[in-house]
Amino acid sequence: MKKYILAIDQGTTSSRAILFDHNGRYTYSAQREVKCIFPHEGWVEEDPIELWVSVVDVVNEVLIKANATWDDVDSIGLTNQRETSIVWDKKTGKPIYNAVVWQSRQSTDICESLECKKEFLHERTGLLINPYFSASKIRWILDNVEGAQERAEKGELLFGTVDTWLIYKMTKGKVHATDSTNASRTLLYNIFDLKWDPELCKIFNIPMSMLPEVKYSVDDYGAASFFTKEVHIYGVAGDQQASLFGHTCFKPGDSKNTYGTGCFMLMNIGEKPILSSKGLLTTIAWSSKLGIKYALEGSVFVGGSAVQWLRDGLKIVKDAPDSESVAGKCDDTDGVYLVPAFVGLGTPYWDDEVRGAVFGITRATTKYQLVRATLEGIAYQVKDVFDVMKEESNIDIESLQVDGGATANNILMQFQSDICRIEIKKPQVVETTALGVAYFAGLKSGYFKNIEEIVATHDYQAQYKPQMDEAKAIQKCKGWAIAVSAARAFKNNK
Ligand code: ADP
Repeated sequence: MKKYILAIDQGTTSSRAILFDHNGRYTYSAQREVKCIFPHEGWVEEDPIELWVSVVDVVNEVLIKANATWDDVDSIGLTNQRETSIVWDKKTGKPIYNAVVWQSRQSTDICESLECKKEFLHERTGLLINPYFSASKIRWILDNVEGAQERAEKGELLFGTVDTWLIYKMTKGKVHATDSTNASRTLLYNIFDLKWDPELCKIFNIPMSMLPEVKYSVDDYGAASFFTKEVHIYGVAGDQQASLFGHTCFKPGDSKNTYGTGCFMLMNIGEKPILSSKGLLTTIAWSSKLGIKYALEGSVFVGGSAVQWLRDGLKIVKDAPDSESVAGKCDDTDGVYLVPAFVGLGTPYWDDEVRGAVFGITRATTKYQLVRATLEGIAYQVKDVFDVMKEESNIDIESLQVDGGATANNILMQFQSDICRIEIKKPQVVETTALGVAYFAGLKSGYFKNIEEIVATHDYQAQYKPQMDEAKAIQKCKGWAIAVSAARAFKNNK
């Protein structure tokens, strides 16, 4: 048996390569920052060539670090920032424009003009009409690069999310493919029929010849012949879905939340998609020849970035870890609530206009209560997502698996457990995104026998159980609901 699976994780701010061993353990890694370009207010772009070069660099570096050769690598798993869209010339392989990043708002007008198709799009894709997803980004590129629509109609241009672009580069242009999790984020893929949808493509006026072949997440994407030896790419998935698998959330109800800059919660809902009426997205969790799994997804816009605000804006904590010691100087917020709606509120409110607010301040309030209230504000938002997930799926959540930078904060994790009344579990390997696609690749190649073998090697570094008195937790959550309503009411009074 070969020594390693190579996982490539191409994210918004960096590219990483990680070698995992047979126990799913993280052995060596390499990382490169990638630059975001901001051509206008609200636009976020990246250079596709830089993304590719950064991947080549980290792959080479990790092999050097591990003193390994390609003979030691069983197969490759690839995970990526989702929705980010690239269009390139089929003949030359050259991008015709920068990668338009998921966060970018440059296609807002396109989405607004399609507001009337909102329900139709939701019924077929499980998504909302929003610049976040790929379709309006492709439309924007075709509208703004001279002659692009015509070239696309002649079959001269190809579209891809970042996975597709990197597969294309790794296979020297031989393979133009994506996996179903990435396809399910484009607004062009029918998540029920599991096909690119001609009617959706028509709405956005996107020629179907541009679209990649959709494969399973566990599938053969061809040999990465770019590197010195041919190694097959056997696993591909968007980052959040890869993380769900990396957390071994294999059963319906199994859920994970990532506490990064923002928070992303995904719940495995099994083999049938459920459409949400409360702002959750329905998405493909993963696919293999054994079948498809679906997930519900909810997002919190401001998670760990609220802690950055404490550090850089208010300057009341030295660094992110300091938020735990400062909050620890008091036992309670003493009735203070902080709604960190700095850029609006995500699931289930989807309110772009509401802004942050603090309630319940008295003469006795100190920075300790404010910092604690900020951490609690992150946890309450996560609970709001958690509650609609339970309600809309009608599935009970037994425990919540967590990852991301802010999980280092024990006060936050304990409070999350207290208000959700469930166990919070933080795995030993926190690189769950990369691990998820390493598992996919290894399952395809036989490096991992089956999911039972994976579960057996999965363990936890920390677990949190509810400690707060339940009546108090309920009371505090009621206060949060009032604080959110009050913050939302205030926006009309600007
Ligand atoms: P991303 O992938 O979105 O860049 P990360 O998973 O790297 O995010 O997490 C970074 C975020 O976690 C930052 O917003 C930071 O403020 C927050 N963070 C890191 N350590 C702590 C901590 N000990 N307590 C609270 N927040 C933290």
